[in-house]
Amino acid sequence: MEKRLHYNNEILHTILIVDDELINREILGAMLEDDYNLLFAENGEVAMEILNSGTNRVSMVLTDLMMPKLNGFELIQEIKANPRLAPIPIMVLTSEKDAEVKSIDMGAVDFIQKPYDAPEIIRSRIKRMIELSDDRSIIRSTERDQLTNLLTKNFFFEYCSIMEKFHPERSMDAIIIDIDHYHLMNEIYGRSFGDSLLKKIADIIKHFSNDNEGIAGRGENATFYMYLNHQEDYNDFIKILNKKLTDEFNSNHVHIRMGINLKKGENADITSLFTGARLANDTIIGQFHKSIAYFDENLQEKAFFQERLIHDINTAIEEKQFIPYFQPKYSIQGDKNVLSGCEALIRWNHPELGMISPNSFINLFESNGLIQMVDTFIWNEVAKQIKHWKETLGMSIPISVNVSRIDFFDPGLSDKLIKLIEEHGLSFDDIHLEITESAYVEHPETIIQIIENLRSKGFVIEMDDFGTGYSSLGVLSSIPIDILKIDMKFIRSMHDNEKNRRMVEIIMDIAKMLNVPVIAEGVETQNQYSDLKGLGCEMIQGYYFSRPVPSEEFEQILKEKMYV
Ligand code: C2E
Ligand code: CA
Ligand code: CA
Repeated sequence: MEKRLHYNNEILHTILIVDDELINREILGAMLEDDYNLLFAENGEVAMEILNSGTNRVSMVLTDLMMPKLNGFELIQEIKANPRLAPIPIMVLTSEKDAEVKSIDMGAVDFIQKPYDAPEIIRSRIKRMIELSDDRSIIRSTERDQLTNLLTKNFFFEYCSIMEKFHPERSMDAIIIDIDHYHLMNEIYGRSFGDSLLKKIADIIKHFSNDNEGIAGRGENATFYMYLNHQEDYNDFIKILNKKLTDEFNSNHVHIRMGINLKKGENADITSLFTGARLANDTIIGQFHKSIAYFDENLQEKAFFQERLIHDINTAIEEKQFIPYFQPKYSIQGDKNVLSGCEALIRWNHPELGMISPNSFINLFESNGLIQMVDTFIWNEVAKQIKHWKETLGMSIPISVNVSRIDFFDPGLSDKLIKLIEEHGLSFDDIHLEITESAYVEHPETIIQIIENLRSKGFVIEMDDFGTGYSSLGVLSSIPIDILKIDMKFIRSMHDNEKNRRMVEIIMDIAKMLNVPVIAEGVETQNQYSDLKGLGCEMIQGYYFSRPVPSEEFEQILKEKMYV
């Protein structure tokens, strides 16, 4: 159909009128034809054909309820189940009160009472609804990721739930796709390479999902989602994907990981389906010969455990089940080793599951954002502890807390930390912030800005797990840090061979270049201790001096082991 223009030169909105009685179609048609492009359908089936053909962008559907073939309720259902059509506002034409409530429940925005006796009111309600929907569609433009034009994560999950609601019986697969070492590739081949890689993958999975009646979305960084009809086998898909990437980018280094969770039974919960896909995906990180992993029973057990932890987290905070342990850091370059700080390491003292180590929950709580709540709680406990030791022992050493990369998503982070110090009457160098190297690599500009601000207040910043984050020297020298913590794995392997020992020396050189002291963590033996001392390492943390211990034991260390 040719596009008509309104007198003020705007393209007319198109309204689809669905009613099985010709007379009703004609009355509404006459009422609206001056202001809108009109399409007509005599039942839901014909209406769906028109909507699916996609030749006209329909701005509103007006539908009768009682119709042969596909009735009005069924039509609403089909429209709402289709992510592309779901945003189109639907008004119901009816003479029954009950039906109004039901159709609004199903997602209709409004209704028009039959018989049509007040044309002016009907016209203005339709106009208002279309305006509202236009406004909403501007807001909805955030539903697409700018780079790849895939659905953004939240909208993707929203649409999955809608699909489930209307087609609970379909056999579906929930899939999470990742690229190994995406950051590293960005570093080495450049940002524009990274972007075109993402675009290409997005393109391929979008077509694949479309072909299989599903949808695709993009999460953070190089994570993609698919929710589509169940497939017996994904090997061909992976082969084609890899071939297309190799052809286009002339590179074999791209390792795609795919975690798949098959929906079982009806009433699937989308969040747990994708949690399962994530768990499966994580099992093949770094395994270059494997691209596909399925969620299975073992992982199911892990998933139950994780769900339990998530379920219990609020009680845990209320009942103070999270407690900091403290591990000393000794300065080793003087005649005697001097206690010069400690790291607060969280433990979960669960009333039924026993003492849970952070390795069981930090990643989990980072993946769903709960870590912010947990970290805030621990920082607060640490601040109280410092205040207590200052008051009772008349002394204090700086305590380092871990700041998760996820904590930086909170725009109030700086204020929160500053308030923490002020409210407990501490000074800013009483608490050091340990920030893992990989955090800087993900969002360097934002994080550097926040850290600059915190440092200007007086906070001391330690870069944690140094050597595992792939930050280039260029990035490193622009990052504001005060102390560098060599990752444990370098210490563990430093006596395996000459090459590994050399790695530690190189890291010491980098620290020298950056003009910051080095802490080695995970130091367990006399041998490691004396070698690190020889290499000029300033501080040591590890079982060689002490394991992380509860506050009462650490108080003994403060009293008796300042010098060892
Ligand atoms: P991390 O920050 O790298 O902490 C060092 C880890 O090494 C700790 O494990 C510590 O107990 C362990 N460790 C210390 N010395 C030695 C040693 O000589 N040998 C060996 N084998 N291990 C040693 P932990 O306490 O299990 O914590 C694991 C990770 O959990 C931490 O790694 C940190 O990333 C995270 N974490 C701990 N507490 C918190 C917290 O309050 N907030 C956040 N966001 N993360 C935390
Ligand atoms: Ca740490
Ligand atoms: Ca560390």
